[in-house]
Amino acid sequence: MLRLPSFTYLQPRSLAEALRMKAEAGPEGMYVAGGTDLYPNMKRRHQEPKTVISLMGIPELRTMEREKVGTCVTLSTLSNIPSFQHSAVATAARLVSTPLLRNMGTLGGNLCLDTRCNYYNQSYEWRKSIDFCMKKDGHICWVAPSSPRCWGSRSTSA
Ligand SMILES: Cc1cc2nc3c(=O)[nH]c(=O)nc-3n(C[C@H](O)[C@H](O)[C@H](O)COP(=O)(O)OP(=O)(O)OC[C@H]3O[C@@H](n4cnc5c(N)ncnc54)[C@H](O)[C@@H]3O)c2cc1C
Ligand code: SF4
Repeated sequence: MLRLPSFTYLQPRSLAEALRMKAEAGPEGMYVAGGTDLYPNMKRRHQEPKTVISLMGIPELRTMEREKVGTCVTLSTLSNIPSFQHSAVATAARLVSTPLLRNMGTLGGNLCLDTRCNYYNQSYEWRKSIDFCMKKDGHICWVAPSSPRCWGSRSTSA
């Protein structure tokens, strides 16, 4: 079984508090919403924040108005907002994975996901056994070995 590393968990109640906590935690701090992406990544040691700051208790981020939807609205809720029902965003949210995942995963988390790649979304030991790729801890891209960059979808850095 893959276990989470130890970390400090903080629950701000306002945006100002969340920003202050992140500034205090520095690069070792990360926000979490539904946790469906971040926690598995922490278990696989892709991302190893020492401080995890939950955004789910911040009312402004759960707003659901016609022109304004907060980033912490879950994918299930997003797909059921009456004024959104027939929008491309609601249709896309309905197509994500399973009800369980959609009940936890949020709009903001979906937009800020880490890399998706079969060579990267594996346990630490699996990645070590073939030698790490350049996305984390290594120097080669296993999808395109002569490439100087990472080709994983949603990848923002290599
Ligand atoms: C089994 C499975 C199947 C999936 N299938 C699909 C699919 O078919 N289609 C698809 O599009 N996606 C799919 N996903 C991805 C899924 O949509 C995301 O895991 C989910 O939307 C992430 O939301 P979250 O709130 O759980 O994010 P979290 O795990 O909480 O966060 C993800 C990242 O976003 C950052 N973050 C979160 N909220 C904010 C915010 N408000 N501001 C700044 N940063 C923020 C976090 O710091 C973290 O880096 C799948 C995931 C799983 C596990
Ligand atoms: S560097 Fe290559 S193997 Fe690694 S995550 Fe990116 S695309 Fe995948």
